[in-house]
Order: sequence, then C-alpha cells, then structure tokens
Amino acid sequence: MTTSDKNNALQRAMDSASDLPIRAIHVGVDAADQLAAFVDGGPVLVVSDETTRGASASLLTALAGRAITEHVYPADGFDATGVLAEELATVLPDAAWIVGAGSGTVCDLAKYAGHLMSVPVALYGTAASMNGYTSGIAALKVRGLKRTLPCTPAAGVFADPNVLAAAPQRMAAAGLADFLSKCSACADWRAANLLRGETFREDALQFYDGLVERAIDDAPKIGAGDPIATAFLMEALMLSGLSMLMAGSSSPASGGEHLISHYIDMKSALNSTPHDLHGAQVGVATLHCLRLWEQIIALDPSALDIAACADAQLPDKRICKRIEATWGDPVSDEVLDQWAEKSRDRDGIYAELELFQEQHATLAIAVAQDVLPAATVEAAIAAAGGPTEPEALNASIDDYDDALSSARYIRSRFTVLDLAAELLIE
Ligand SMILES: [Zn+2]
Repeated sequence: MTTSDKNNALQRAMDSASDLPIRAIHVGVDAADQLAAFVDGGPVLVVSDETTRGASASLLTALAGRAITEHVYPADGFDATGVLAEELATVLPDAAWIVGAGSGTVCDLAKYAGHLMSVPVALYGTAASMNGYTSGIAALKVRGLKRTLPCTPAAGVFADPNVLAAAPQRMAAAGLADFLSKCSACADWRAANLLRGETFREDALQFYDGLVERAIDDAPKIGAGDPIATAFLMEALMLSGLSMLMAGSSSPASGGEHLISHYIDMKSALNSTPHDLHGAQVGVATLHCLRLWEQIIALDPSALDIAACADAQLPDKRICKRIEATWGDPVSDEVLDQWAEKSRDRDGIYAELELFQEQHATLAIAVAQDVLPAATVEAAIAAAGGPTEPEALNASIDDYDDALSSARYIRSRFTVLDLAAELLIE
C-alpha cells in the first residue's frame, strides 16, 4: 500500500480496513509510474476525454511500450450514461485492465465498464472535484435519469498533485464543497439512527479526524491551485469515499444536501436545463442544510407543539399528487416508491416528534460532532472560489427553490429535510 507522506490518515485508513477492496491509493508526483507498475500485464484500455487526456501525458508516457488501446471521449458536452458504459465494455473484450484517466464522468464510465466486464480498474484522477474515485458507486444517467449504481470499486486510485493543481479552480472548489458536505450528511445519518433506528457506524467516520479543520484552513490555497493543498483535498476526498465503502452505504457523505443536488440533476435531465458541477450544487445545498440544523439544535423542545406540527403536514395523498405532477411518467413511479418507504401518517409523525422531543439533548450532542456553523463552511467555499448562493449556480433557480421542499421525496433516506419539514422549519 502506498500513500503520500503528507496524510498518514490515508495510510491508517487502509491499514485499519484491510478488507476494503481497494488495494492501492497513491497521491504523489510519481503517480503515473506507480499506476503503470500497478496494472501489471495484459492489454490495457485507457479511457479519457480530450481534456483529461491532455492532463494525463505522463501517464501515457509511463504506459508506453505496453499493449494499450485508447478510448477518448470529446472534451465536454457528454454525460456518463449507462449506454456509454455498456459500449465501453465492448471496446477491448480481452482487456486485462481498464484505466480511467479523468474526473467524475470518465472515472464513473471506466468503473462501470470494468464492473460489467469483471475487469479490474485503475483510476488516474485529474481533478480533486468529487469523492467518487474510491467509492463503490457510479453516477450514470439511465433512460434520462441520473442514478447511483452500485459497482465494483477501483482496484487502485492514483493522482499527481501537479496535475490536480492544474485543473480548473472551480473543480477544486467543488471538491472542497463535496468534502465539507459531510458536516450535514453525517448529522443526518446520526438523526436517522436516533429517530428511525437506521444502522450507524462510528468506525466509518474515523477517517475524518482532523480533515475538516485542515480543509477549511487550506481553502484559500485550494482556490489558488497550491499543489500540496490540492493533494491534501484529494486525499480527504478519497477518505470520504472509503468511509462510504466501510459504511456499506453513501450515508457518511450524502444527506439532504445531496438530495437537493440530485433533484436539480434529475430536473436537468428531464427538461434539458443546465446543471452545475456536483460539488458546486452540493456546497450551496450544504449551507441550507447546516442552517436547518442550526435551527433544530437551537429550538426549545419543551416549547414544541407536537400536535400542531403533526396536524400541519400535507396529507400523503396530496404529496403523491404533487410528486406525479412534478415528475410525470415514468419517473414519478420511482419517486413514489422511494417516498412510500419513509413517509409517515399523522400518528407516525406525532410519535417521531415525541421521540425527537425526548431525545433532543442527545441528538444535539451527537450532531455537534459533525455540524459546523454554516458561516464557517460558507467562508471556506468562498475562499476556494466556489459558489455559496443558488443564484451563482449554473442551474435553474426555480429547480433549486423547488428542491428545498420537494427533494426529500426522491429518496427513501431520512435527512434533515424530513426532520425540518416535520418541525415546520424552513
Ligand atoms: Zn458528493
């Protein structure tokens, strides 16, 4: 196992979780050589796009002399889709390895093609833009809808700090925001554990120790393209991916803020409206969710009028009508299924709020381990040059506004968006 010397947390994570399927993680200037040595023997399919291929020159040099076949997508304007992943899986049927050289889109396609072919995948990350490099899911558009499909994780993930630092600033800012979303996501996970009895694994969060503080301190350097700070961010994102692998779900890194971003992506797919980088959307939504958490923690549970809250909830029939009107066929069927899994009738909400009232102090202590003041996270994202307001996103402001109230219907995961709605907090 190799990691850079700068972040022993990555080494500790790999050591303490020897059953994780990822065999190598390396962030260092010799990443290209390390990857070339790692993908030992047999034909290699190298996947990139015109932009990330340019950023991967040293990788192609390191692989020179090997039996490689390149598959290069256009510079941009393409999405990772299930169809593209299936096509990719037929490009080199005897491939011994697939190497994905790029960021989210290219690496998700490479991972999923490898999964379909049962061929190991090595990733050469070209931007510290999201936490999916080490995750066991691929975000692919299937029949127009963005899905997070389970897949075999990459066998190895490699990145060169100088390549990462040369990526566009907005990508690093998005990566920082995606990483900081754990502040609200982990709080959501603890609440789901306390109020809904969902499985929570403290050990999946062990990797995060000290990382959030450093990410916030480093934000201006990340925005300025400093290679050491950007390499640290990449390692933090990789640890975030490992926490999801360890938890066996995306809960440690995906709560209500991710639902808001997914809602925007789904609307974008349906209506051909623009969407922004995943992390950019997630960052703005994280600020919203942290503000909700601030209100929830600050409220006086003894003053809570549980009956009034339960009575004020929209009847489920109206919610289902709203879902149908929002999504239409066939998407609404899936959203209705997701919502049905977590919706509660009036008595169920009453009971949940009674439990909340009883457990408020415990919940406040638990989530205090994760939540930071929204203003602190906002300042960090801004210092890295990322958007902090919905108006600054390259996405429909109407979709963003609708997502605040309706994103909670699209997934069965209980998040702060549900709790706030039950408490009539906006
Ligand atoms: Zn994310």
